[in-house]
Amino acid sequence: MFTKPHLQLNRATDITAELLNKMNITCLILDVDNTLCLKKGKIILDGVMNWLEKMQNDGIKLIILSNAKPKRMEGIAKNFGLPFVGLGGKPLTFGYRRAAKRMGESIKNCAIVGDQLLTDILGGNLAGCKTILVCPVELESSFGFKIKRGIERKLLKKYNLKCDF
Ligand SMILES: [Mg+2]
Repeated sequence: MFTKPHLQLNRATDITAELLNKMNITCLILDVDNTLCLKKGKIILDGVMNWLEKMQNDGIKLIILSNAKPKRMEGIAKNFGLPFVGLGGKPLTFGYRRAAKRMGESIKNCAIVGDQLLTDILGGNLAGCKTILVCPVELESSFGFKIKRGIERKLLKKYNLKCDF
């Protein structure tokens, strides 16, 4: 059951500080593609910039964790004005631990926010943080992704979670 998220929401922007307080979460570790933006960072999803600002004003720490190369992440993280851990190796756990440490937080007070069960959520559960699944906005075209999304559909159904892709 390591692929089952603690919480499922439609979009990252649906997360509120009130909700995080209830879950004892003080830091969000954020996936990028299909969670905050599309097209490798070229399109930022509606409301994301305002939401990031609101989270920070409400005292929630934010850091990006991505499997992408640091070179690509640098520009994207800069656009968001957030620190980042690149080459995160999700679903391996070292990136999550690195992100928590960078923010001075215990991993159990962190939550990963991401759109993929087999990377973001699996890694988060293995690392010992809370896991928040959001729905992918745009499906990928590669063969590898088609297989992964197919497995996700089956798992979401098994967990009685929403699956609109
Ligand atoms: Mg993603």
